[in-house]
Amino acid sequence: SVGGKIFIIFYRYKINKMKKLYIENKVLVDKKNSSYVSKLDSNVMFYGERFPEIFISAVGHIMTAKNGKNYLDFLSGAGALNYGHNHPRVVDAILNHVSTYGIIHALDFVTTYRNSFIEAFNRIILEPRKLKYKFMFPGPTGTNAVEAALKLARKYTKRSRIIAFEKSFHGMTLGSLSVTGIGRKREGAGCILSEVSFCNFEGKSTTEALAYIVKCFSDLKLQGDLPAAIIIETIQGEGGLNVVPDRFLTELRQICEFYGTLFIVDDIQAGCGRTGSFFSFERVNLYPDIVCLSKSLSGSGLPLSLLLIRPNVDVWNPAEHNGTFRSNNLALITGEAILDHWRNGDFEKSIVKKSIIINNFLTSLQRDGVVRKGIGMLQGLAFKDCRIARRISEIVFEKGLIVETCGINGEVLKIMPPLNIDEESLIEGLNIIKNAINKK
Ligand code: PLP
Repeated sequence: SVGGKIFIIFYRYKINKMKKLYIENKVLVDKKNSSYVSKLDSNVMFYGERFPEIFISAVGHIMTAKNGKNYLDFLSGAGALNYGHNHPRVVDAILNHVSTYGIIHALDFVTTYRNSFIEAFNRIILEPRKLKYKFMFPGPTGTNAVEAALKLARKYTKRSRIIAFEKSFHGMTLGSLSVTGIGRKREGAGCILSEVSFCNFEGKSTTEALAYIVKCFSDLKLQGDLPAAIIIETIQGEGGLNVVPDRFLTELRQICEFYGTLFIVDDIQAGCGRTGSFFSFERVNLYPDIVCLSKSLSGSGLPLSLLLIRPNVDVWNPAEHNGTFRSNNLALITGEAILDHWRNGDFEKSIVKKSIIINNFLTSLQRDGVVRKGIGMLQGLAFKDCRIARRISEIVFEKGLIVETCGINGEVLKIMPPLNIDEESLIEGLNIIKNAINKK
């Protein structure tokens, strides 16, 4: 029958697609034999495979390989190097600290550096923005901050459900994965990730998206399961540079207040200046209950995480969220040294200027199937076919430029140079991308 024939054609198409995927995967597995990667390195290793080179040193926006080749770094340690590699202030601070036998590990003993960082951050970042927060240093990585935020919200509200967003990324430990809205990341969990409801701000109008959230809240209320918190990135870094509309953010904040739900901003990737202001939520003048910071907080690439907690929400008992590696003192030292960038408005102005350069450049590259996305110095190009984004990333690497992809299927070429890159190098990197796209 005709139906049967159509079914067979469809079936063959599916089989061929699976075969193709298998071959592509096999190529990836075989690449593990590349001479760059240690044979003992786990299959989980990613960037080393993706950017086959052995690196030995780095300054500012340049990474140098063993063979002497220089690469422009438009990945910036996935947002951990907003001030570039080995910023002179950071290097001075480390050398001085180590050469004077400064304390490196101290659990959360009081050290002069710990107090000094807190006071400097409060004075330079919080007070001018009229934000009042208590400081909590969880374990050293971003996911540690997210775990602590979820736990604190649940303790404070005595509720367990969390509302998160599709395409979000919050980290790889189980709590953070449970609020992560990217399927391929969740697949690695190996267990059921529960107590989370997902909403969306894309693919519909802001009014419709907000109406959906309100319905979600009133349904949960009927079930006696109101959420402890909403966790949101104001621009989704890993999920494809999806910018949350301003009105959505402000009204979402109000909805949370109405239902006694905490509003958590995960500013781990979009914070520390990436979008033009220190916090990504400054564009809408928000005052979240909890802010998660990490990545570029230390300014040096050393791991450091921080939870900013509205004073009334700080209901922890002493030692209720412990960890051996909190408040890494060397990272606090470099974190304070780099805060100097934020003393007057010059750094912010320079970020805004470069954001406009990137915006104009990427807008000029838009065409059928290629769309500019993002804000600030967290912008990129979304391609209809994720293989094109991937291929461009490979081509530009050969030309000496490191650029990563993001998005649900890796369809977005993500341009994330250090914030202090000079304009000439920025344009040089953008031109490498332009040439690669034109060749495709
Ligand atoms: N939250 C956001 C928004 C992130 O982008 C990331 C990492 O990319 C994390 C959390 C997790 O941080 P980490 O990799 O340091 O655990």
